Amino acid sequence: MPHTLLFAALLAAPPAPLPEVPARVETQPVTASKGDTADDPAIWRNPKDPAKSLILSTDKKAGLAIHDLSGRLLSFQPLGDLNNVDLRPDISIAGRKGVLVAASDRSDKDVPRLHLFRLDPEAPTLIPIGTIASPEGQAYGLCLHRRGKQVDAFMVHKEGVIEQIALDLSQVPVTGKVIRRFDLKSRSEGCVADDRTGRLYVAEDKVALWRFDTSPGRAMTPVKIADVDGVRLHKDAEGLAILPRGKDGGLLFASSQGDNSIAVFRLPDASYVGAFRIAGGPIDGTEDTDGIALHPGDFGKDWPGGLFAAQDGKNRNDADEKAPQNFKLIPLGTILRAVEGR
Ligand code: CA
Ligand code: CA
Ligand code: CA
Ligand code: CA
Ligand code: CA
Repeated sequence: MPHTLLFAALLAAPPAPLPEVPARVETQPVTASKGDTADDPAIWRNPKDPAKSLILSTDKKAGLAIHDLSGRLLSFQPLGDLNNVDLRPDISIAGRKGVLVAASDRSDKDVPRLHLFRLDPEAPTLIPIGTIASPEGQAYGLCLHRRGKQVDAFMVHKEGVIEQIALDLSQVPVTGKVIRRFDLKSRSEGCVADDRTGRLYVAEDKVALWRFDTSPGRAMTPVKIADVDGVRLHKDAEGLAILPRGKDGGLLFASSQGDNSIAVFRLPDASYVGAFRIAGGPIDGTEDTDGIALHPGDFGKDWPGGLFAAQDGKNRNDADEKAPQNFKLIPLGTILRAVEGR
């Protein structure tokens, strides 16, 4: 082959294939609309009966859905344009332990709202316990952070402003106070806080993954951990999730929308491990993924190693036709085997 042709062939060669992990379950869509609606999941592990755990997820044009581990829709609450959702179990809310759920509401594009709920896992339903509004911006990303006995919410506004809100959960309605803010200056959304290490990770869609120290006494200075370089992360960088191991180890997962993959970084230094795609099973894989969530531990025999949930921006039905968006559920152990060989 002449050199020029060889060069052209190399340029045209597709990137090395990534390991594929099939989805085990897909959630029942909440709407018949084929538009961009499903966005972000959160996982509640039922400690008494792990097989009866719940998947909470946002429909960013309608409200919040709760599914069981078979993907069946158990409840839907029309709470508004809820974009992102997160939760923490075992939180004292007005003196009574429970599951704290938070969601960012962009129904009013000029006034970002943070809604707080107590999860009633039996019903299952969300019981409103307070709403906190910020003066300006558009609500977008949201994640919770437990800092000793204190619980903070991080709101990531669409314009790139991050607000750290210290919640007062001593009575209902819950209140909150913005204690720090930082402006990344371009569209950002995905975030996750590591409660062990006091580190917050934020995805700036087209730019980079950043790390922040969550301690209010320190400067809110971003540390770049990865560029959206078109090699490991393809714009947009979206949902983030953490698998903790030990004191400060584990893995950080990041949705790389542009190549329909999930990139994996090793904690605490955020060195690159590799990537995978959710694909290759009887259920269609994930494309254009927004939010992701994971939870290690026992979820019953179908979920070795824990549970991983990912939004699917391009859901297909059995006939391979376009269908309303949903979420795919994958055994976490299968993912770890694919990316770490363990
Ligand atoms: Ca989307
Ligand atoms: Ca989430
Ligand atoms: Ca989103
Ligand atoms: Ca799909
Ligand atoms: Ca499907």
